[in-house]
Amino acid sequence: MSNRELVVLGTASQAPTRARNHNGYFLRWDGEGLLFDPGEGTQRQMLFAGVTASQITRICVTHFHGDHCLGLPGVLQRIALDRVEHPVQGYYPAEGREMFWRLRHAAIFHDTLPLTERPVDAYGVIAATPGFRLEARALSHRVPTVGYRLTEPDGRRMLPDRLAALGVAGPDIGRLQREGQLEADGHRVLLDEVSELRRGQSFAFIMDTRLCDAAFELAQGTDMVVCESTFAEADAALASDYGHLTAGQAGRIAAEAGARLLVLTHFSQRYEDSGSEVLLQEAVSAFGGEVVLAGDLDRIPVPRRAR
Ligand SMILES: [Zn+2]
Repeated sequence: MSNRELVVLGTASQAPTRARNHNGYFLRWDGEGLLFDPGEGTQRQMLFAGVTASQITRICVTHFHGDHCLGLPGVLQRIALDRVEHPVQGYYPAEGREMFWRLRHAAIFHDTLPLTERPVDAYGVIAATPGFRLEARALSHRVPTVGYRLTEPDGRRMLPDRLAALGVAGPDIGRLQREGQLEADGHRVLLDEVSELRRGQSFAFIMDTRLCDAAFELAQGTDMVVCESTFAEADAALASDYGHLTAGQAGRIAAEAGARLLVLTHFSQRYEDSGSEVLLQEAVSAFGGEVVLAGDLDRIPVPRRAR
């Protein structure tokens, strides 16, 4: 099992279909689990996907249309029911404070949640750990909406043959990583001589929005970008009326931002019978890179490091 993967819980916009649950996405990233936009039915989809409430460390809601949040009451109560003890952070647009409160208290339960609500009212970095920083940007929808990006800091990859050649071994390797240099066999060894840059990986989550600068910024250079693609180009007028993207626009975001893997989701039910292949084709021709048309319960590994 990859330790960095996207588990797709649902892919339908607005209304679920026979084949697609409301939105829901679980990003497994080393020891953390980020649940994005739990729509209706997310708790049960988690069961099918083998995701447990105890794996959730953060919940990120982009906005408060039902397909992105109606699963919160069930998921939150499940976290309490399963007696999850580790802290869980909840992010959502600050304008939705009252809406989050209503969802959290939609039914009777003893609220022992280890949940800290972190309404997003300033854009930029909203959380930082040694492993990554989480950022939020305002998108352009019909209601306050934020997109998210997770970025791992760049690091250094140690080169075993260089270490051996310069006589650095055992605990000295860790010391060299911490201190940047050390004395070995009577000469000074610099970290740069025995290691190379290891680029941090990154992930972006761009839901309901029109084309806007923030979408390109969030996607910039990412290894994986999950992007709504509600409509096909033939319905571009509907997309702009309702504040959504077409698949071609999602492809353009990935292309101009230099993303590596584009995951399309949040499909209108109008393509249920005709098939969503047209969306895939339109995104592929706009992007030119790898595109995945997400299906419920898909597991999509974050691509291996590009170096
Ligand atoms: Zn939506």
